Amino acid sequence: MTVPHTKLVVGNWKMHGSHAANEALLDGLKSAGPLPCDVAVCPPFPYLAQAAERLARTPIAWGSQDCSAQEQGAYTGEVSAAMLADFGCRYAIVGHSERRAQHGESDALVADKAAAALARGVTPIVCVGETLAEREAGQTESVVKRQLSAVIHTLGHCVSEMVVAYEPVWAIGTGVTATPEQAQAVHAVLRAQLQAATPHPKRIKLLYGGSVKPDNAASLFAQPDIDGGLIGGASLKAADFIAICRTASPVKAV
Ligand code: PEP
Repeated sequence: MTVPHTKLVVGNWKMHGSHAANEALLDGLKSAGPLPCDVAVCPPFPYLAQAAERLARTPIAWGSQDCSAQEQGAYTGEVSAAMLADFGCRYAIVGHSERRAQHGESDALVADKAAAALARGVTPIVCVGETLAEREAGQTESVVKRQLSAVIHTLGHCVSEMVVAYEPVWAIGTGVTATPEQAQAVHAVLRAQLQAATPHPKRIKLLYGGSVKPDNAASLFAQPDIDGGLIGGASLKAADFIAICRTASPVKAV
């Protein structure tokens, strides 16, 4: 028997927005009506309460762009998974390449953040991806496998509860998208790696991220191991984000 496999499209707002601009964006998303995929948005921390309030009683979930690996204590500026869970946060992006590059986040720290989120019932969206130099040096596979392996090692049997986003660093915010074939090739590597770690590798959604736009989303989402997208720039315009979501129809999974 085949069952429909619902895709997931997540908007990463990064450090954009204001109370007024978010209100318009969230209202725009709400007015879209039913969408064929699961949808979530990840605003900056100060606006999570606004998203929680505006998206209550809608199918659109919300998440954070990071979470601390620590439970609580003297960690100025950090936000714990417990705090996020306290008011209903569904997802936490961890290991985004901007945080790895700008904040020196290691594979081990990213894995600890994923574990902290899961321990509080918040689904981590673990980002992996290679830089252009790494791709050109033929290291794409080894880099993403190393990044994912740290998370698999730390999460153990809970690994099937996470979401993974493959985001080639050279495609983020550059307007250069991985071709569907390039993205699929890496997703297949990640799926095989997950297969060795869990009996339910298909349960783990593998998102592609990096300059996804309404005109390239359908061909990316048509790939067999691409279960949706992590969308940066295009998630800031309701019409574009909705158009991307509309291309993410469920596929039949065996
Ligand atoms: C991102 O920041 O996760 C991202 C994919 O950005 P963009 O879509 O703008 O490339």
